[in-house]
Amino acid sequence: MTDDKKLRTKLVHGGTRRSQYNEVSEAIFLTQGFVYETAEQAEARFEQLGEDEFIYARYGNPTVRMFEDRMAMIEGTEDCFATASGMAAVNAALMSLLRAGDHVVSSRALFGSCLYILEDVLTRFGVEVSFVDGTDLEAWRAAIRPDTKVLFMETISNPTLEVIDLKSVADLGHTVGATVVVDNVFATPVFSRAVEMGADVIVYSTTKHVDGQGRALGGAVCGTRDYIRKTLEPYLKHTGAAMSPFTAWIMLKGLETLDLRVRAQAEGARILAEALDGHPKLSRVIHPGLPAHPQHALARDQMTGFGTMLSLEISGGKDAAFRALNALEIFTISNNLGDAKSIVTHPATTTHQRLPVDVRAELGITPGLLRLSIGLEDPQDLLADLTRALDAA
Ligand SMILES: *Cc1c(COP(=O)(O)O)cnc(C)c1O
Repeated sequence: MTDDKKLRTKLVHGGTRRSQYNEVSEAIFLTQGFVYETAEQAEARFEQLGEDEFIYARYGNPTVRMFEDRMAMIEGTEDCFATASGMAAVNAALMSLLRAGDHVVSSRALFGSCLYILEDVLTRFGVEVSFVDGTDLEAWRAAIRPDTKVLFMETISNPTLEVIDLKSVADLGHTVGATVVVDNVFATPVFSRAVEMGADVIVYSTTKHVDGQGRALGGAVCGTRDYIRKTLEPYLKHTGAAMSPFTAWIMLKGLETLDLRVRAQAEGARILAEALDGHPKLSRVIHPGLPAHPQHALARDQMTGFGTMLSLEISGGKDAAFRALNALEIFTISNNLGDAKSIVTHPATTTHQRLPVDVRAELGITPGLLRLSIGLEDPQDLLADLTRALDAA
């Protein structure tokens, strides 16, 4: 299929390869290796891979390649490499770009494991990392140096849903030749315009909206062909965080319905945010689609939708938050997001428990804060569930 099609068409057909049987649904090639007809063919394949040729599933498998091609097509990048999890993707994207002595500037409000890679792993190998408040453009400007190699950020922060001005930050990075790496999970591949805004490398945990049904871990790194094949592939090829062909098949099936799911979920998030805004039990309702959100205009500019997440701060702290959590009937208490099932998380005691109290406070992760991932249930049922739980709080 040619690249000029619209998103929904690409999500269904992009990257499809058919075997000699011309199957309709993407085939699962559960094979680790590939047979060469002759010794000469083996030699030639190791010298140079042609199209539709594979050597070993750690760095190439037909089912995984279909998924990679489809991801690249929808993200608008030249190429993509699939990984075993979102964290494998983040780790490889950064490790493949950096060496001892390099400098990185990163936003501070990060997914806990991303923070671990930047703060604990990279620094152990002599990489210097400066953390900034991602929404403060002057802080980025002050931290970026002539020798800065990489900028890293989550465009929408977890769990307080602050939006970073990607285009302005990327412009600052590019003036010193830095590579702009974006963890784009919260923006979703459906609403993302990260490439247009200047991102060089875009990383997804496909565990989230791409699978969207809680079945498998996966990750993807999208970028130029040069970066993916010459910088990232050598690192991943030899370190082994490959996506399994079965997982790639699950992700391909997830992509077919991604647009429908994410749009329905985002619509649910918007309906709930508007309905709950001003609720007497809530001190804050955080959703980038609300006009009162501090970066509402930026979010509208930078994405084509506001995402499937919503955060609520309950007055009354942890006790009230726990009472509300335990009173919910439809929302499940878990820590995944982007799922068909609506999920509620209490960040202060789970995903962000590891952070020191003062850092949590600085990031706005208060004891009353709940993070909600809106699923595919009827929004009116979800609203009734939340309203009842808030009464119980
Ligand atoms: C979940 C998540 C990750 C990690 O992905 P896994 O698939 O769980 O390894 C990284 N970044 C963000 C923003 C996430 O939400």
